[in-house]
Amino acid sequence: MNKRDFLKTSGAFVTAAMVPQLSSGQQQPALRENWAGNITYSTDAVGTPADLEEVRAMVKKCRELRALGSRHSFNRIADSTRNQISLSRLDQIEIDEKARTVNVGAGVRYGQLAPVIHAKGYALHNLASLPHISVAGAIATGTHGSGMHNGNLATAVRALEIVTADGDVVHLSREKDGDAFAGAVVGLGSVGIVTRVTLELHPTFQVAQMVYQNLSLDQLHHHFDEIFGAGYSVSLFTDWQKHQATQVWIKRRLATGDKNEWPAEFFGAKKAHENLHPITGHSAESCTEQMGVPGPWYERLPHFKMNFTPSSGRELQTEYFVPRDHGYDAILAVERVRDQISPHLFVTELRTIAADDLWMSMAYNRDSLAIHFTWKPEWDAVKQILPQIEAHLQHFGARPHWGKLFTMPPTSLQAQYARLADFKSLLKHYDPDRKFRNEFIDTNLYASS
Ligand SMILES: Cc1cc2nc3c(=O)[nH]c(=O)nc-3n(C[C@H](O)[C@H](O)[C@H](O)COP(=O)(O)OP(=O)(O)OC[C@H]3O[C@@H](n4cnc5c(N)ncnc54)[C@H](O)[C@@H]3O)c2cc1C
Repeated sequence: MNKRDFLKTSGAFVTAAMVPQLSSGQQQPALRENWAGNITYSTDAVGTPADLEEVRAMVKKCRELRALGSRHSFNRIADSTRNQISLSRLDQIEIDEKARTVNVGAGVRYGQLAPVIHAKGYALHNLASLPHISVAGAIATGTHGSGMHNGNLATAVRALEIVTADGDVVHLSREKDGDAFAGAVVGLGSVGIVTRVTLELHPTFQVAQMVYQNLSLDQLHHHFDEIFGAGYSVSLFTDWQKHQATQVWIKRRLATGDKNEWPAEFFGAKKAHENLHPITGHSAESCTEQMGVPGPWYERLPHFKMNFTPSSGRELQTEYFVPRDHGYDAILAVERVRDQISPHLFVTELRTIAADDLWMSMAYNRDSLAIHFTWKPEWDAVKQILPQIEAHLQHFGARPHWGKLFTMPPTSLQAQYARLADFKSLLKHYDPDRKFRNEFIDTNLYASS
């Protein structure tokens, strides 16, 4: 039995012994760690209600409560010292053909949703690098994919059903609720327990992806928008060595009759001759099909397949969002600390995200470049490097990903969110007794040092 299996098994034992009071919540031992295994949650009390009424009952009963999605965040944003609630049993998927929307229970993961809507002729506008995450957890942290014209995944939300602190059910929609809606969507798990999400649908589409190798970062100086705009979704990967992107992943939408032709070179980078994994040396078996082979949107927009472990598996992640206009300079700023970064890094990914109007989104009001780091699981070393990267990016107004690891002082982070005061008013309105707060929120949104 390896360490993770042991922790999960021992967690099951403690859970079963300690929380008989959660009658509607069958305890799930595997919930006690996050996906990466770097966080052990601070409570063994996890409820898994079967329907809206059970959610309401649990919310009323608990003095402190935090929603848990599919556990893919790398920090303590989903943690609670008292109670967590998993919506995994709320997994209904209902398409509204007339409205061109789909209504999903908060437990639904993108990997479950995508084939169902595709079979009916629909698509979502974008996906993250992996399909394993829950819709509710992804939108709560502003999770994103790539594409100059693609907003993050939360921009597809048209309406939310939320159980607020007193157990009431609130419906917020983009159409009717303007400000409250814009504040609640990227809600950081603190507005209430989201039980249903309505997402905008598009006609289904085909995508082909091609990988190019060894693009000089100099090319970004004069061709930044051409490079990131070369496909519907474009990702650059780098190990920060040799001033180059080791791989460029270009995902192109194909309409009927479009020529699926790919030149041998892309700004000096060479077309790959086989499927590749973004991390050099890892098998590409877990990666979505490349080499220009067309396929449905949901089998190309993520980098990783649903039935495989995404990315490295044992890893940590960090990501900073800077204004796209300053993207090239921000990349050069990070490159200055590459000698400290590289020994602890699996790979960096560079992606673009279109601006949105969601108050706590990392792309709020600005077209963004996201500079992502997949680290080896070496937190002691990584936490020494993050302040250096953050110092180099401070000048660019960097915003850290809410679901990943960062060390930025709370006041610097707070200064990056123009609507923070409005967001706090929203929390006060829906959660006056701070039922849905936790240490992560208290520190990052409220600490004054
Ligand atoms: C291998 C890997 C690859 C990743 N790739 C990407 C990527 O491409 N792009 C990107 O942006 N991020 C990426 N992430 C980060 C990930 O998308 C975010 O951390 C996301 O929030 C995870 O969703 P989750 O369902 O696991 O939520 P959790 O981590 O379980 O929870 C996250 C937050 O959502 C809240 N929440 C969950 N459910 C509800 C609910 N029903 N009601 C209210 N609040 C709720 C929680 O309280 C918590 O605050 C990646 C993570 C991993 C592990």
